[in-house]
Amino acid sequence: MSANEQTLVMIKPDGVKRHLIGQIIQRFENKGLIIKEMKTTTLSNELVAEHYAHLVQKDFFHEVSDFMTSGPSVLMILEGDNVVEMVRTLIGVTNVVKAAPGTIRGDFGNAAVYHENVIHASDSIEAAQTEIKRFFS
Ligand code: ADP
Repeated sequence: MSANEQTLVMIKPDGVKRHLIGQIIQRFENKGLIIKEMKTTTLSNELVAEHYAHLVQKDFFHEVSDFMTSGPSVLMILEGDNVVEMVRTLIGVTNVVKAAPGTIRGDFGNAAVYHENVIHASDSIEAAQTEIKRFFS
């Protein structure tokens, strides 16, 4: 844990299409986190397969891949004290049906479509380093 710890956050295509970018970024700024880099891009199938390598064998992977490549995502590097853990807490658990109210997934996720959970954030410091390289170099 350090004051300049960094994490990778992605507002997924559902969040962009639903015009949630501003509201989501507001939550990070409210907590004092710094946006070090930010860009909009549409992910390729290859990049999604690399990013979600742990899911490639799952029967639902094609749905995740179609969704993640369906339009632009917003990628950002956030910096702050204990940022990896803090941002995972702010976004809520993967399944939006179980995500607590007050979290980003709990407040904005689509309970009718599992993969439409609005946002991704790195789940460990090691993952953050890998994902920052993946999307920003
Ligand atoms: P997280 O995004 O919370 O780190 P995972 O790495 O397990 O969670 O999953 C990556 C993404 O794949 C999820 O955010 C979600 O969009 C999608 N996903 C995960 N599990 C399922 C599932 N059972 N059915 C459909 N989509 C899923």
